[in-house]
Amino acid sequence: MKICSDVDGVILNYIQGFIDFTHGEKIPYTHDPELYGVIRNFPDNEKIRDKFHAGDYLRQLNYFDDSLNILNTLAGRHELHLVTALEPEQFQKRVENLKALNYTSLQCVGDFRKEQIIVEEIQPDVMLEDRPELIEAFHNAGINVFFPDWHPYTKGMERYATPFSHWQEIPDLLKIL
Ligand SMILES: [Mg+2]
Repeated sequence: MKICSDVDGVILNYIQGFIDFTHGEKIPYTHDPELYGVIRNFPDNEKIRDKFHAGDYLRQLNYFDDSLNILNTLAGRHELHLVTALEPEQFQKRVENLKALNYTSLQCVGDFRKEQIIVEEIQPDVMLEDRPELIEAFHNAGINVFFPDWHPYTKGMERYATPFSHWQEIPDLLKIL
């Protein structure tokens, strides 16, 4: 089976990393968990994103619960492709952050190209994604989609995809495909 996964918000806790960054740098910030994109509504959001990505926070984002163990088990039996909307310049930091994970391929493609690369080039049997627009787009492209349901912004995505609350549910969910 060909498994493809997004990284931020699914495997790594990007939101917590950004909040830790704002605290560490003493940048006043109130996060609205209902909205996708932790930096999107920040004044000067591109400048603040660049500052976040320029530091060491991006090398050491935490894994969500058992994502590392579960994915390493799955990677022993399946292809595991990781595609993230981080810019290509962040590739080395992402490699470092994911060095304990046995993936088949890793791409940092930027926001604009992500959907096309997954739908046209990778063509996975299953996609793990948390961004609402992409959950819908991958579903419309005929891909089985699983989404983490612990983010308030993925509420209602059951229309297009299968929710999971914990990484330990993933092996059983794959069996029913
Ligand atoms: Mg994501």
